[in-house]
Amino acid sequence: MIKPDAVESGYIGPILAKISSAGFKIVAMKFTQLSRRDAREFYAIHKGRPFFDELIQFMTRGPIVSAILEKDNAVEDFRALIGATNPQEAAEGTIRKLYAKDIGENAVHGSDSDENAGIEGAFHFSGREIYT
Ligand code: ATP
Ligand code: MG
Repeated sequence: MIKPDAVESGYIGPILAKISSAGFKIVAMKFTQLSRRDAREFYAIHKGRPFFDELIQFMTRGPIVSAILEKDNAVEDFRALIGATNPQEAAEGTIRKLYAKDIGENAVHGSDSDENAGIEGAFHFSGREIYT
């Protein structure tokens, strides 16, 4: 996902360009806005954390871009491309270093395992919306 902060700031194009140059193939993509229910389900793993309400408020405040990306070693390579959760700790040249505001408004989401990538892909897209 490209998160609401990055969409608001006009970074959809630059972020997609970085994803493309890094060798990821886009097999599904949409521009949409998460409802509170969507966001609470998507980030259910963080329920009970002190930042949960702030995270839901942030993720629902404006549109996002969601996409399914394909590449060998995609999960690890995408997380390397986006950088650390906190942009102050993110490596030079990473998407979060370039485009994120802070640890909450950090421009992009990446799945943390192949299993979660499958679950999250199915959360955002129906089978007909995925290029095979
Ligand atoms: P994501 O799951 O969005 O790719 P991540 O895996 O790097 O990010 P997580 O620990 O899964 O980080 O946290 C999910 C999201 O919750 C973060 O990307 C950020 O938007 C928000 N978040 C995490 N920690 C904090 C915090 N301490 N304060 C505010 N927001 C936070
Ligand atoms: Mg995460």
